[in-house]
Amino acid sequence: MPLIPESIIDEILSRADIAELISRYMPLRRAGRHFKALCPFHKERTPSFTVNADKQIFHCFGCGVGGNVFSFLMQHDRLTFPEAVRQLADHVGISIPEAAAGASSGEHERLLALMEKACIYFERRLSEPQGGRAARAYLQQRGVSSDTAKRFRLGLSSTGWRGLVTAAKATQVSPEQLEAAGLVVPGKSGHYDRFRNRLMFPIQDVRGRVIGFGGRSLDAQEPKYLNSPETAVYSKGRHVFGLPQAREAIAAAKTVVLVEGYFDCVVLADAGIRHVISPLGTALTTEQARLLKRYAETVILAFDADAAGEAATLRGIDLVVEAGLQVRIAQLPKGVDPDDVVRNSGRAGIEAVLQQSIGILEYLLQVGMARHPVSTAEGKVRVARFVLPTIAKVPDAMLRREYVRIVAGTLRLDEAAVAEELAKVQPRDAVARPEKMPRAPAASASVPPGSERMLTALILDEPARLGALQGRLALEDVTDVRLQRLLSLVGEHSTPGQATSAAQIVSRLADEPDYAALVTELVALAQTVSAKDAAFEDCVRRLRRSATQRQLAKLHHQLEQGAKDEQHERKLLAEYQTIQRG
Ligand SMILES: [Zn+2]
Repeated sequence: MPLIPESIIDEILSRADIAELISRYMPLRRAGRHFKALCPFHKERTPSFTVNADKQIFHCFGCGVGGNVFSFLMQHDRLTFPEAVRQLADHVGISIPEAAAGASSGEHERLLALMEKACIYFERRLSEPQGGRAARAYLQQRGVSSDTAKRFRLGLSSTGWRGLVTAAKATQVSPEQLEAAGLVVPGKSGHYDRFRNRLMFPIQDVRGRVIGFGGRSLDAQEPKYLNSPETAVYSKGRHVFGLPQAREAIAAAKTVVLVEGYFDCVVLADAGIRHVISPLGTALTTEQARLLKRYAETVILAFDADAAGEAATLRGIDLVVEAGLQVRIAQLPKGVDPDDVVRNSGRAGIEAVLQQSIGILEYLLQVGMARHPVSTAEGKVRVARFVLPTIAKVPDAMLRREYVRIVAGTLRLDEAAVAEELAKVQPRDAVARPEKMPRAPAASASVPPGSERMLTALILDEPARLGALQGRLALEDVTDVRLQRLLSLVGEHSTPGQATSAAQIVSRLADEPDYAALVTELVALAQTVSAKDAAFEDCVRRLRRSATQRQLAKLHHQLEQGAKDEQHERKLLAEYQTIQRG
């Protein structure tokens, strides 16, 4: 994705209003100069979530989250920073120029508008009293209610060869435009519809915009399932089917169920199992796994119980494990798809299947042992070798070791030998990479209370104060590296006569929510001070004194260690005295 220029990000920031934005999601109560609300990010009975409209930031005193308008959208709607910026840009009426290499913004928008029109066209055809009757009956027979069909915006393509081409012409849309959208195919005697007499499943992006379609044939037409080709707005490995419909349920359950087909997805949703998506027939990709990680901690793979499903599961496991997600595998009876389970035994049936899903190790051992007899030593080793590549991808070292123990125990192999084998299959880059670093402690715990903290707080509160440090205190004199980094960001983004703002600094820290929360925490701290200018001067004096002391101690140490020669010693002494005099 092309980088969005900072000037545009700042322009959006200056036009958006955080109180207005947040009040679209939840009621805000005015409390003095600020607003208060029950925090949407943690459970609480008394409001500790505050919105500071002057500074255009929010902060929760309960759970410590904080940030600006972009951070709010990122955390509340689980958007990436560019997605949040684009969404707000739409809201405040600013257009973001796309990089010259990609499709121009206008082209992109036109394509999306066309997909939306096509979706409405298909939806209308499905609801036609006569024309849509057979398709509606088919949906009902497969266990999809009309409510669910509407929620997923299912539709029907025309039975003829030129239904869409003709309908589009009437609205001034050319066949060439439809071709760019992947909806029609050029033929010898003109363009014809790609999707004919098919039940249409619109593929939507995170924001619910239609970017492609999957069509299920309603006659003997092959292939049974036909998908949109890649277009400027749709690339296969990057999207999944059903995400906007499932997003909230996934985030609430912290779990996502992956199924193979469109029907599995809508039938399960119809039965009330809403945290379900489909990776669009193709095997799961790394990008899809990362996308899911934004919403879920655990993935349940519920692929069909056939050879293709097993292969998809085995491929999927490694990707999902690598993305750092927990994986469970649903065990479906042979030859039975998830939507069959719902039709045969209802919601309770599929819930039981999901609840009884097993962990990766159990699954891999099971598949491995079905493939190789463990009655022989060679067989046992083969099973271990089958399981180990996945274990090697587990990011957590402790978990890896535990898995080795279980594999060795189950197969009655020597644990050290299994560990040795594991070391061999480990991907090369994983060897060089250090073990995952422990998470930094919460901002408030890691920053000692004191002058450095207050100084940074007062500068973030009024960034123009940074100039007052000149000649008195260098940024290196601030010993806390986190605070020092915030101060240097303020410096980098202020120009003479035009200081930055806390909300702008938060934008620059979009990928580091902990830092953004530290900014809002410090701004909140500054609000507790009544005489800010006096407090600021006090901080500068104290910090200057301690910086001087550190310098003196250093010189003292050097002198004690002995100078290189007499001249050097004289120089150190002179320096010492100059500093001492202040
Ligand atoms: Zn909170």
